[in-house]
Amino acid sequence: MPRDLAPLRTRAGRIARALAKAYPDADCALDYTTPFELLIATILSAQCTDAKVNEVTATLFRRFGTPQALAEADPAEIEAIVRPTGFYRQKTKSIQSAALDIVERFGGKVPRSLEELVSLRGVARKTANVVLGNCFDVPGLAVDTHMKRVNRRLGLTAREDPVQIEEDLMSLLPPEEWTRYTHRVIHHGRVCCVARKPRCEACPLRKDCPA
Ligand code: SF4
Repeated sequence: MPRDLAPLRTRAGRIARALAKAYPDADCALDYTTPFELLIATILSAQCTDAKVNEVTATLFRRFGTPQALAEADPAEIEAIVRPTGFYRQKTKSIQSAALDIVERFGGKVPRSLEELVSLRGVARKTANVVLGNCFDVPGLAVDTHMKRVNRRLGLTAREDPVQIEEDLMSLLPPEEWTRYTHRVIHHGRVCCVARKPRCEACPLRKDCPA
């Protein structure tokens, strides 16, 4: 059954405003100085805290800070560095494949469109949206575990699949809100609407939350 979008849009707007008031400075928590660094840090952040990723990338980018250097590095050396982020063999493959694609197909520069970014090996839609929103000012809703949990609790989506959740949110919020909304929801998911025991009594969204 199609969703009745008008009341949902109104509520989503109120939620976005309340988040902006509560967390005006919420921003990307990953350390980076170039689009390439953010791309690699975001791939490494799967199933890992941003703080741990920042520790690892401080070493990784000092030694292999360009697509060329990372693509040509000995995988064993990369694995040893990224090991603390978990799934280190797969992550090493992903970041080296993405780096090689950037060198071979995009002249060493991170591409600026969603289609091109997701064509890189090891780069999923969430990662692409993080890079687009933070580096290229292209609006993007990056659906990670916090975006999924919080938006489902808020009743802004009932779906499980990140791409479908992204579609639901795109239909409720204007594009200029997407990147900031993502940062604020992720922050809210870390400090208030946590997975196990959400702090509803102190939540700035409680009036608009059916959960
Ligand atoms: S009221 Fe509770 S469940 Fe709803 S968004 Fe706030 S913390 Fe999460």
